[in-house]
Amino acid sequence: MTKKVIIFDFDGTIADTVDALVNVANRLAVEFGYIQITPEELAILRNLTSREIIKYSGISVFKIPFLVKKVKSELKNKIPELQPIHGIKDALAELTKQGHRLGIITSNSQDNVSEFLKINQMNDLFEFVYSGVTIFGKTTIINNVLRQKQLKLQEVIYVGDETRDVEASKKANIKVVAVTWGFNSYEVLSKQKPNFLINQPEELLDVVNTSS
Ligand SMILES: [Mg+2]
Repeated sequence: MTKKVIIFDFDGTIADTVDALVNVANRLAVEFGYIQITPEELAILRNLTSREIIKYSGISVFKIPFLVKKVKSELKNKIPELQPIHGIKDALAELTKQGHRLGIITSNSQDNVSEFLKINQMNDLFEFVYSGVTIFGKTTIINNVLRQKQLKLQEVIYVGDETRDVEASKKANIKVVAVTWGFNSYEVLSKQKPNFLINQPEELLDVVNTSS
């Protein structure tokens, strides 16, 4: 069995942050000039790609960096209330037991992620946490991590819950597992043609150990 380096997205993939993010986004709606997200609207957004969501929201692209910054700082107060995705901790513990190495690449802040991992006794599971600031820029961060850690493309797998995760991994030429327990729906994720599409954290074990 080949040992892998498995890189995870944080929001929606490891931490159950979708509701918290929607609440924060709704509080900032007036200030940033977009409409509040109702449950009906959230159902629509789940079926859109990251690019389509920005277009749909009507928010100015120039405001996005400010919005992202504000969301991260507002989310900081919510960290103690956030829960890990059901079953993820066991799946990750099993993967490390099997000798795979785990890391995180997130557009959330390093502080938020570290605090969450500490509170939930998950920090021993991860070898690294990298944080990046751009919304479509995960490819650059993935490439930097591959270079810094001198990883071969074939030994790396990325795991994420959004279409932009699939897109970034494909651009970086690494295998990608899309998960349906986070933000984007099965339908829109499958259109991005990830290497694997899974519904439960325990499926990670099969996917990692069957991918050569
Ligand atoms: Mg995510």
